[in-house]
Amino acid sequence: MRLWLVIFLGLLVSACSHPPTANQSSTQVARADVFIQAGHEGRSSGKMGSTSQFGREIDWTPVVADAATHYLRQAGFSVIRADANWKQKTDTDLALFIHFDGSANPCATGASIGYDDPSDRPAANAWKRLYSQYFRYRWQQDNFTKNLSQYYMFKHTRTRDAELVLELGAIGCPEQALWLRPRLPQLGQLVAHFAAERMGYGNRIPRPQM
Ligand SMILES: [Zn+2]
Repeated sequence: MRLWLVIFLGLLVSACSHPPTANQSSTQVARADVFIQAGHEGRSSGKMGSTSQFGREIDWTPVVADAATHYLRQAGFSVIRADANWKQKTDTDLALFIHFDGSANPCATGASIGYDDPSDRPAANAWKRLYSQYFRYRWQQDNFTKNLSQYYMFKHTRTRDAELVLELGAIGCPEQALWLRPRLPQLGQLVAHFAAERMGYGNRIPRPQM
């Protein structure tokens, strides 16, 4: 073969088998039915979450997120299970960010919901109706802090239904924390039931006993 032909064929092969660049893989959109993030999980500095004598938020959120993921996958739904360092863009029906609240005045806070768009409100109201049947303590106004209304992960998640920060209660308030702590897996099941119901399959994941 003539040298120019060898070079030409070599260039052709290398052009066709060009590996994807790092840039391409990070801009690729991850798709699933549900995105679930355990708040603060994976952080070793910065916003490490609330702590109290009853426990650490950073330890509680993965228990809830893992249980929710387990129930959803078992029922046939696909789940992106993310920690606090997730960077990729996602496209899902729902995106749920699990947190517990803390406050200098521990029982002044409680459960709440954060979202950045009026289109998220029907799902937020549905969660409040459902969780209120179990959680009999204080609720804060929706979006009562900027960490809720301008949650940093909203820029990565695109959803058909809603993206919600779910603050499940106050980790420092004795009566709330002592109710929450032994029920973390059941809270995950409730989150999974809620997600399935929003997607039109509420009967696939039963409500937890608690
Ligand atoms: Zn938090």
